[in-house]
Amino acid sequence: MDLYEYQARDLFEAHGVPVLPGRTAATPEEAADVATEIGGAVVVKAQVKVGGRGKAGGVKLARDVTETRERAAAILGMDIKGHTVHQVLVTAASGIAEEYYFSFLLDRSNRTFLAMASAEGGMEIEQLAVERPDALAKIPVDSITGVDKAKAAEIVAAGKIPAEVADKAADVIVKLWETFVAEDATLVEVNPLVRDPQDNIIALDGKVTLDENADFRHPGHAALVDKRTEDPLEAKAKAKNLNYVKLDGQVGIIGNGAGLVMSTLDVVAYAGERHNGVKPANFLDIGGGASAAVMAAGLDVILGDPDVRSVYVNVFGGITACDAVATGIVEALKILGEQATKPLVVRLDGNSVLEGRAILNEANHPLITLVETMDDAADKAAELAAVGA
Ligand code: GDP
Ligand code: MN
Repeated sequence: MDLYEYQARDLFEAHGVPVLPGRTAATPEEAADVATEIGGAVVVKAQVKVGGRGKAGGVKLARDVTETRERAAAILGMDIKGHTVHQVLVTAASGIAEEYYFSFLLDRSNRTFLAMASAEGGMEIEQLAVERPDALAKIPVDSITGVDKAKAAEIVAAGKIPAEVADKAADVIVKLWETFVAEDATLVEVNPLVRDPQDNIIALDGKVTLDENADFRHPGHAALVDKRTEDPLEAKAKAKNLNYVKLDGQVGIIGNGAGLVMSTLDVVAYAGERHNGVKPANFLDIGGGASAAVMAAGLDVILGDPDVRSVYVNVFGGITACDAVATGIVEALKILGEQATKPLVVRLDGNSVLEGRAILNEANHPLITLVETMDDAADKAAELAAVGA
């Protein structure tokens, strides 16, 4: 889960990372109140989960309370790259001598953690990585030893952060590592990490991604979810413990097990090339126990996606054998009743496949087409989706 800047700011503060005083406001009047509390110049910042807010006009300096009200009125409701601004963060304005870049992230390809640091922060990091790769230091971090002061000093030196503030920057980096570990984050990014005119090091902007697999350790993290921007189908799937991902095609996909689901996406995309270029609309992994209730919940989510024109159910019977899955599908269609309106292509294989197919044949449901092989089923599902266009 990606956090808003203000949520990252609050986590930083809780872990002793220096941040500017400030809090969020949902109306210009509230923003004015925050500015009054802070006193002096403030910065009004759009809270949207997308980078480059500054360039898009979502970060504005305000010299006094009146100007804060005006800036907030202009920024609230703004659309930044498809994200509506519902809240602004009002923080004390900081003088800036220099802007650095800093991040900790999970480096999946190298199976380790990585620190990235640069004395040339402020601009977008993707751009810096392409244009001036030498200016961006990448230092692997061992998960066992982590980041102590000595390691932080090594990172600071590699990032060419000036010697006068190296010690302070290293202290902040140790605190950022503490945040990263304590919160089970997969990304902690500060851009810019600023050096102010008094040589203080401050996290001026923050981006944090939390590892949802660790949610069980963090009861507090549930409160960070913004229900307003959550996709209703994703929320529904999550509530039922199903892994659902929305894509932009037309064929809904249900399978059991991540590997089978991934290869189903491939065969559907491939078959789609022969059928008007249709593609997967979404996918849902119902996991091991494909009971009637789970299948009904899965179909309910998939059929709730208005982009879906046909559904491909691809199940390999293992511990839950094909006859149970077939019964599950038939029962699920009964549970859904009139809500089920789109054609289903079903491919079953594995344990008790013959019994499973017999159950579906006997049910003779008008929406179900039973196909024996994975490729043929993909072709049929793509064909039905193309016809439904
Ligand atoms: P982003 O554009 O979404 O990354 O938003 P940031 O929070 O990083 O702000 C963009 C830029 O606005 C920063 O790189 C700074 O140059 C500037 N900025 C933000 N806050 C302040 C502040 O308190 N004082 C000054 N002088 N500039 C600021
Ligand atoms: Mn930034």
